[in-house]
Amino acid sequence: MGLKIDILGSSSKGNCGLLTVDGSHYLIDAGFSGKQLKERLARYGLTLSDIEGVFLTHEHQDHAAGLKVLSKLSEIRFFANSKTAQAIEERYEITSRPFADPWNTFETGDTLTFGNFSVQTFSIPHDAADPVGFLFRSEEACLAWATDIGRLTPKIAEYLSQVDALVLEANHDEELLWKHPHRPQYLKERVASETGHLSNGDVYKFLQNAPPTLKFVYLVHISRECNSTELLRKMLEPLAVEKGFELHIVDPND
Ligand SMILES: [Zn+2]
Ligand SMILES: [Zn+2]
Repeated sequence: MGLKIDILGSSSKGNCGLLTVDGSHYLIDAGFSGKQLKERLARYGLTLSDIEGVFLTHEHQDHAAGLKVLSKLSEIRFFANSKTAQAIEERYEITSRPFADPWNTFETGDTLTFGNFSVQTFSIPHDAADPVGFLFRSEEACLAWATDIGRLTPKIAEYLSQVDALVLEANHDEELLWKHPHRPQYLKERVASETGHLSNGDVYKFLQNAPPTLKFVYLVHISRECNSTELLRKMLEPLAVEKGFELHIVDPND
């Protein structure tokens, strides 16, 4: 049984992945409006009622904005740790729906099992209540989802080294970030901090030591203002050839 990943969209304006396992569809984060989610799913011939559940990394708007609509419209289950679930309920005014409680909460570090596949959750440094990354594992494949990470700690790198496919944040080019003429200093500091976002340099360093099992890399959460797909392509395409992985750079304008 394989795992299939598609990126419905990824930038600071919204993040959402579509994970298909054995014919079942799940979202990873839902950072778009209900209307946007419907439009983006329609590109894959799917509707909201085809989605079994949403795995949530953290409560920020660009990851959770669609939950209010999702919680009303369907029986989609929400998988999040308890602090994230609480933060989302408070922030997005999600009230219990009449037919069933949408939440399936876990504690960070837990492994969730769904028949033939499992989901390992792991902690990531980011300025949210209890942010996580995910390791989705079937008998045949292993995929990691890791965005909104201030630093790639040795522990996270260890998780990411077990995978065939990796969805990884490549948020900003450090020089473009610090030299940006209009961004306030506090915002630059937040993005570059240990609980902010990963830079191109961080990603390059990790991929230089990519495990031989790694076959697919998706770079996501690319900043529109402080990064560019061309810059990433130039920097990482030679490394992809050398290491033998397929590189997908997800355009933040899509
Ligand atoms: Zn975030
Ligand atoms: Zn984000």
